[in-house]
Amino acid sequence: MITAPPNDPKSNDARLRERAQQVIPGGMWGHMRAAAVPAGYPQFFEGGEGARVRDVNGRTYIDFMCSWGPIILGHRHPEVEQAARAQLDAGECLNGPTEHAVRLAEKLVALQPHADWALFQKNGSDAMTTCVTLARAGTGRRKILVARGAYHGAVPWCSPSLVGVTAEDRAHLLHFTYNDVASLDAAVQEAGDDLAAIVVSAFRHDLGIRQELPTPEFARAARAHCDRLDAALVLDDVRAGFRLNLGGSWADLGVSPDLSGYSKAIANGYPLAAVTGSDRFRGAGEEVFVTGSFWYAGAAMAAAVATLDVLEREDGPALLHAAGTRFAEGLIGGAARHGYEVTLSGPPVMPLMQFAGDPEAKLGKAFCQQALARGVYLHNKHNMFLNLAHTDAVIDEALEAIDAAFAALAGATPA
Ligand code: PMP
Repeated sequence: MITAPPNDPKSNDARLRERAQQVIPGGMWGHMRAAAVPAGYPQFFEGGEGARVRDVNGRTYIDFMCSWGPIILGHRHPEVEQAARAQLDAGECLNGPTEHAVRLAEKLVALQPHADWALFQKNGSDAMTTCVTLARAGTGRRKILVARGAYHGAVPWCSPSLVGVTAEDRAHLLHFTYNDVASLDAAVQEAGDDLAAIVVSAFRHDLGIRQELPTPEFARAARAHCDRLDAALVLDDVRAGFRLNLGGSWADLGVSPDLSGYSKAIANGYPLAAVTGSDRFRGAGEEVFVTGSFWYAGAAMAAAVATLDVLEREDGPALLHAAGTRFAEGLIGGAARHGYEVTLSGPPVMPLMQFAGDPEAKLGKAFCQQALARGVYLHNKHNMFLNLAHTDAVIDEALEAIDAAFAALAGATPA
């Protein structure tokens, strides 16, 4: 098996890791720990432009992680930068919101058929927690149904880790299996007359397992339960939002959520999250106390308006679909030329790459390391992301390097 490209101990990245070990528990927290990417990947970055990111060692990569989702137009898109810069120059943190808050809410309400209003936060975890609070406030009930293994944030009610979490934090959380109507029915039954919300991801994108699009039966069953019981259907569109459909990721299915959570791509990398909702939950939105010192800051909202303008004008989801399809076809074809079977699951714009017979993604890891050495930044366990700077020429350049990465595997098989 191929080993990772050597990490020069004198490199800027290695030195920063060493310093971080002294003053940051474990060297880094959360999903930005070095363990979240294959060994040999850089941990620290200094810049990005278009489809490329630059690490602190000065190496540049064609980027297929897009900062784990936020970069949807390409790094430092000029229109977004200009909009954010104008507000930063005027003042970022004021005694109240800027006009951008109203402009952005108007924009989201116009784009999303299910949305009558919007509220803003900073992170996806804030948005999803706000959705749960609104659902409970609007229904007067407690039980929240989530799919087993789905990620909704890093806060006690839904964190994938139970370290530091009490049983009481999860007391009203019930589970079902994504796309499994019978298991959803059973969980609804278990919730009885205390069902506040069914929370669903845009599609099944749990770490390291084949991604699944929602079946129409599953989506309709979730909607029907919520209609029958007057509970909230909450769509977690934090990861997929604006890449599949600007009207919401379930719009093509014809199933409307009551509440949707967004973050990641909404402002092309500026920190922002949003909850959109229907009039059914407007009253709850007036009553709950959800807030944060930085939730009103203007630059990220200006960036979001600019991001959505570009996506709308250029029909972003269609372009992203085409780019993702080109990438997927090239990758699968490249694998086959070198005797490998690779599948890409999920929508083409957010593909999870897996080698056949490689459940722990070890061969996938070796392949990613070879691609990285050739200037392409991929991921072997998490879904990747496309952005609008992935032009045909950029994708073809990446595919050429990827072809060499397959060749460098030299016929290695899953361990
Ligand atoms: N929901 C989903 C589907 C996500 O992918 C994420 C982030 N990976 C979150 C919620 C939480 O978002 P954040 O990291 O911004 O808190």
